[in-house]
Amino acid sequence: MVIVMERGADAAQVRTVIEEIERAGFRAFVNPGVERKVIALLGAMDVQKAQLADHFAALPGVERVSRISEPYKLVARASQPEGTRIQIGRVCIGGPALTIIAGPCSAEDREQALEIAQIVKYAGANMLRGGAFKPRTSPYSFQGLGEKGLEILAQAKEETGLPLVTEVMEVDEVELVAKYADMLQIGARNMQNFRLLQRVGGIDMPVLLKRGPGCRVRDLLMAAEYIMVEGNHQIALCERGITTFEDSTRYTLDISAIPVIKRHSHLPVIIDPSHCAGEWRYVNPLAMAGVAAGADGLLVEVHPDPASALSDGPQALKPERFRALVADVARLANVLGRTLSSPKET
Ligand code: PEP
Ligand code: MN
Repeated sequence: MVIVMERGADAAQVRTVIEEIERAGFRAFVNPGVERKVIALLGAMDVQKAQLADHFAALPGVERVSRISEPYKLVARASQPEGTRIQIGRVCIGGPALTIIAGPCSAEDREQALEIAQIVKYAGANMLRGGAFKPRTSPYSFQGLGEKGLEILAQAKEETGLPLVTEVMEVDEVELVAKYADMLQIGARNMQNFRLLQRVGGIDMPVLLKRGPGCRVRDLLMAAEYIMVEGNHQIALCERGITTFEDSTRYTLDISAIPVIKRHSHLPVIIDPSHCAGEWRYVNPLAMAGVAAGADGLLVEVHPDPASALSDGPQALKPERFRALVADVARLANVLGRTLSSPKET
């Protein structure tokens, strides 16, 4: 059940509603909406429900009470009808401007990471991506530079002014990664690592939650609920391709996930055209399809010399191809009534 406050409801009215929720034995979660506050009521509810709804609807400052029938509550669109916006420095994920996050798959060494950070910044990226802790299918593959990689990425972020998103794989490493990052990535393989989700839910840092290749949209939304229920509301969901019988690409980009998530949730959606494609030539069309379908941003891998990349080289865009992608996205954004933030501003 969510309680939607009137536009002008004051702090005392919100407080009264919270007290009433707690008095009835439930937990209250206030969504930080700009236009109006929405208070979610959590806890097992049975026959009391109807009476309670009437009770809350009659409190001063309450506009309406809606029931949420989905298993996820805080993530549901009804909890935040206006849509979540995540502010990271000067970047806003969600809202009219598209966010372009770009960088290497992995930080390989200082020179490589600093060079790519400058390339993506001047091409128009708003945020820098790059892995220091890498979840690799093979234990023999490059596993990332660990903390040294984080230090390198932090320098790249300092030099460019681009906020950094990087992956955290372990509960015990959340604190360490959060020291260097501006946004924590939960990789596809960890989407249902519930202890990890709870841990990042307990800190005050935005999270990029990637969909597991074998997980349904509703599983993704439940994973986000795990984070939100711990208090962290700053989550962007990332569609990065799912496993299907089709093997001409590495994964199949589930374009329909975008309108489905937009219908059921208020969280912004980022499309990762690189990991689903697995090959650079498909990255641009998949990115364009994602933006056309309503995504709020892109996560793209870039490398000046893909042939020598230590991870995911075949899907990395060379700098000139990334610049062309940004130009194409800018034109499409224009058609859609959306914008791209200027790279020089960030
Ligand atoms: C990545 O972003 O580099 C990554 C490993 O992605 P995913 O978790 O989607 O495979
Ligand atoms: Mn990668």
